[in-house]
Amino acid sequence: MNPSPRPDPTASPYDLAVLGAGVMGLSLAFEEASRGKRVAVIDPNAFGQKASWAAAGILVTRGGLIGSSPFRSFHLRSVPMYPDWLARVEAASGLTVPYEQAGDYQIFVGDDAETKRILHEREDQLRRERASRFTRLADWPEFLKPHGAPGPVHLYHFPGEAYVNNRALLEALQAALRNLGAGLFAETQLTGWTQENRAEGTLHHLSGPGFSLRTSQVLIAAGAWCNEPLALLGLSMPLFPVKGQLAQLPNFHGTKTMLHGGERFYLIPRGDTLIAGATTEPRVWDEGFDAIGDRHLTMQLQKFFPKIKPDWVESWSGLRPRSADRLPLFGWVDKAAGIAIGTGLYKSGISLAPLGARCLSALLNHEKPPVDLRPFDPWRTGCLQGQDVDSSLS
Ligand SMILES: Cc1cc2nc3c(=O)[nH]c(=O)nc-3n(C[C@H](O)[C@H](O)[C@H](O)COP(=O)(O)OP(=O)(O)OC[C@H]3O[C@@H](n4cnc5c(N)ncnc54)[C@H](O)[C@@H]3O)c2cc1C
Repeated sequence: MNPSPRPDPTASPYDLAVLGAGVMGLSLAFEEASRGKRVAVIDPNAFGQKASWAAAGILVTRGGLIGSSPFRSFHLRSVPMYPDWLARVEAASGLTVPYEQAGDYQIFVGDDAETKRILHEREDQLRRERASRFTRLADWPEFLKPHGAPGPVHLYHFPGEAYVNNRALLEALQAALRNLGAGLFAETQLTGWTQENRAEGTLHHLSGPGFSLRTSQVLIAAGAWCNEPLALLGLSMPLFPVKGQLAQLPNFHGTKTMLHGGERFYLIPRGDTLIAGATTEPRVWDEGFDAIGDRHLTMQLQKFFPKIKPDWVESWSGLRPRSADRLPLFGWVDKAAGIAIGTGLYKSGISLAPLGARCLSALLNHEKPPVDLRPFDPWRTGCLQGQDVDSSLS
């Protein structure tokens, strides 16, 4: 592998340095570079190889129209942005990002008390969110009949639901940034961060082994690892990884439709395979695929599709960044110094990226974000802790 290019410390300062090259950092960098800003992206690892690479690419709204919480509203506004957003990324990168609006079946098998309770909750949510773009079925659809578990089954079919190939998206965002002239510094460890106060605003000096650059603004987007750059500012927050393990198997039903088995299992088409996911393992930092992942996915596959063998062709895992209250953080760490953060995307970062990037870009440019970001304020109770800085929202 070629070594990453080194920033030229004598060059004029960047407008923005993004710390972390996952979907959050790359999407925001793309917004800012598209505005003509001089952007650097810095990551201690190869770009786009962590949670955003591991994800299944599901972009579901479950037929909902109205969010029942600020988070759901944000989610429901972000997902429909995908076709236009991808068109922009594809035009800027010259690459194609596979995106399929092939629908989703959510499946519940059995008639036990737990299944009834979950079905009841699902009906409540559909009512609250005034969902209309779905149908209920009391039997397996034809393409699943040869494979589905015997016994009672309840299905919801959401024909408008979509998924994206998140790995292709990450490649395209990087290519777009390269074409837009951004500085892409992979495998570049940030160990020093000092701030110089000048009449025209703060200038940040970022440095590490063999590298140093200056920038007017900084976005922290280091996923589950955000406490590392925050520590350089004397800050911390309760942010922890939630490991998810996935595996790929041949596509046994031959369609492009997504399948969700209850709330804990899914099968998402990618090429000739299906991505089976995922475990939910809080506070586990290990990034391997192990017996816990194998057991969970095998049991879930057999619960819904007992004749299908768990012949995994590939397996992997990723660490979802979770905040204490499960809400994302979008906002200023220090407004006066021009430091913002975008993290805590937990299970929905691929879905939240288009709107999250647009909101953070508005913030960095002192414009009104398209969404009220107060519920996602990084300084809300239970989030950032440390020295007193200017964190006001507007
Ligand atoms: C198994 C699994 C399945 C998922 N499925 C879906 C899905 O179907 N749909 C959906 O919407 N979401 C899904 N998600 C959630 C989504 O993947 C995450 O919310 C999202 O990828 C988080 O993006 P991020 O950019 O914040 O973090 P990451 O993608 O983890 O990127 C963080 C980056 O920061 C870098 N970094 C680490 N340390 C430092 C440092 N000290 N300084 C600077 N950078 C650093 C890392 O190398 C990495 O490149 C899934 C997640 C997992 C794990």
